[in-house]
Amino acid sequence: MRWALIGASTIARQYMVGAIRAQQGEIVNVLSGSGERARAFAVEHHIPRSGTDLDELLADPTIDAVYISTTNEKHLPQALAAIKAGKHVLCEKPLALNLEDAAAMVRAAEEAGLVFATNHHLRCSGSHRAVRALIASGRIGRVLSLRLHHAVFLPPHLQGWRINAPDAGGGVIPDITVHDADVARFLLGEDPVSVVAQMKSSGLGKGVEDSAMSVWAMPSGAMVMSHESFTHPFAGSGLEVHGTDGSIFARDVMTQNPIGSIELVTASGREVIGFDHHDLYAEGVRRFQAAVAGDGEPAATGFDGVKSLAVALAVRDAAARGVRVDVNYGGVR
Ligand code: NDP
Repeated sequence: MRWALIGASTIARQYMVGAIRAQQGEIVNVLSGSGERARAFAVEHHIPRSGTDLDELLADPTIDAVYISTTNEKHLPQALAAIKAGKHVLCEKPLALNLEDAAAMVRAAEEAGLVFATNHHLRCSGSHRAVRALIASGRIGRVLSLRLHHAVFLPPHLQGWRINAPDAGGGVIPDITVHDADVARFLLGEDPVSVVAQMKSSGLGKGVEDSAMSVWAMPSGAMVMSHESFTHPFAGSGLEVHGTDGSIFARDVMTQNPIGSIELVTASGREVIGFDHHDLYAEGVRRFQAAVAGDGEPAATGFDGVKSLAVALAVRDAAARGVRVDVNYGGVR
């Protein structure tokens, strides 16, 4: 499959160029807002073409798909243009700044008969799949609660728009809570109904929250507790799922890399659970390319991206107003 990159970003550089190539995808063009940055990126990654004109890039009939990893406010116009040009879209999270825009992108792709996927990489992790399989097999009985620990330290090279630019979709809630919402939906197979939350700006940046804690009510009666931050250097990450017959402890699994450990505790004792350690992003590309070839769905569809955004927006709204908020999925199935 022939790809173009829309955005000369860190995630493209660190993970996605390698992930696409690991799945035999060919990257033929890269777009940036700066010609110099586009050229430098193309040279660094041996990409034959680069430029700053989106229409020119999309006019290339040999390009099958685009990967969009620009700042969040640009996803909407770039995705709509790509869909109009008949390209399949793998878009970064959060899909957009509001629910209407996210749903509009996904519906446009659906109407055009194109594959649209959200790059929620954690669904592709062997550890998350193993936890999901344990829950589905009934090993922990009825799920009572899920605790998500995703408080990290934002590295200095990423302390830009994420902490300083609300207009670009900055803030820990659109950045990380959106991933945690997708994890909860993936593991439990149900969508949060309502949320309560608090958020805080500790001064790392300007104008956006850098920490959030929230509690979500699930249709089954299970409760989800979620903690995200940009300011915690030593907290590590993980998740715990507690059920009537057992508990699952997954440590260091809210990461970009195939690491971590899983332990199951039941009346029979403690059991270490093995899992597959494949590259999360390459697995996401594999599923995307298979979907384009007519084989199944992407790991996280566009509608999954709309729903994770809906939960994140509810968390921010609940924290801002100090009230419990029902999650508005905007009629998305
Ligand atoms: P970056 O800040 O690295 O890149 C975002 C944009 O900033 C780029 O498209 C680029 O614009 C511009 N930019 C990059 N480097 C520079 C620079 N040195 N000077 C000036 N501008 C620069 O962001 P990330 O890669 O961290 O995030 C991009 C998107 O990916 C976001 O939507 C984010 O939420 C998502 N993301 C997803 C992850 C996942 O695991 N799914 C992980 C990390 C991010 P231009 O393209 O115009 O050159």
